[in-house]
Amino acid sequence: MLFSNTFQAALFILLTTTATLVQAEDGKLIPYAKVDDNFYVLLSDVDGSNVGVNVAENGLIIVDTMLPKAGDKLTATIRDISDKPVKFVINTHDHMDHTGNNKYFLELGATALTQDNITNNKQLKVVTSTAASHSTNDLLVYFPDNNVLMMGDTFTNNWYPTFWTGGLKGQINVINKALELSDEDTVVVPGHGFITDSNGLKQYRDNNIEWVNRIMELHAKGLNIETIVQDKELHSILEKFANDARPVADLERVMQRFVEKTIKIELKLAQK
Ligand SMILES: [Zn+2]
Repeated sequence: MLFSNTFQAALFILLTTTATLVQAEDGKLIPYAKVDDNFYVLLSDVDGSNVGVNVAENGLIIVDTMLPKAGDKLTATIRDISDKPVKFVINTHDHMDHTGNNKYFLELGATALTQDNITNNKQLKVVTSTAASHSTNDLLVYFPDNNVLMMGDTFTNNWYPTFWTGGLKGQINVINKALELSDEDTVVVPGHGFITDSNGLKQYRDNNIEWVNRIMELHAKGLNIETIVQDKELHSILEKFANDARPVADLERVMQRFVEKTIKIELKLAQK
């Protein structure tokens, strides 16, 4: 796989060996990876989320549509992949960085696929609904012919875990469901971050368990958030999330926010 960005390329090659080469033109196009002749993955955080493009016989199926501001780059990149029209749009969930250009494609004649109408649609393969995890309406979108699994934000491997609806339990549920759909050759695509495989997903699940358990252990000892974020063990768990791939100016403040949200959701769910 060839990227305009060497760092991304290095990470990609590190994380997967299943996909083949593709190129992206600096600046004008969104970097993308060719999984096979009929499946491409656009990889970008600055433009919103990762996007899946399935090239079907009579048109394209697009999984997620990035931020509104990325519209021109998104359409140019899709045109670089195929001349076929966008026939279907499906979203892994309804957050703006995944749905920003839905309207544009629908106005051009695309049909929105939802969990309700998908079963009647022979074009798209399998969509599995999941328990609440990142949002209340997370979908796993799986393409059996290509063996590609688009996970939306139930999986982000360049950032902190964001299970703000379902907590750790919801996060584990959704990953287990994804692993049921996958085999060792499945190309697993996170909502943000880098393409990986089922081993990458298992590692992420383990990291999540460690992250939440350590935070809740420190919280149970009566430590405040400012003290919790100083914890060495927590920092070493954090490194496993590869979130140095998306550096932040003020790590401590960001970490405080994520620790605070983790405690909040876990306490809330524990009361139920
Ligand atoms: Zn989201």
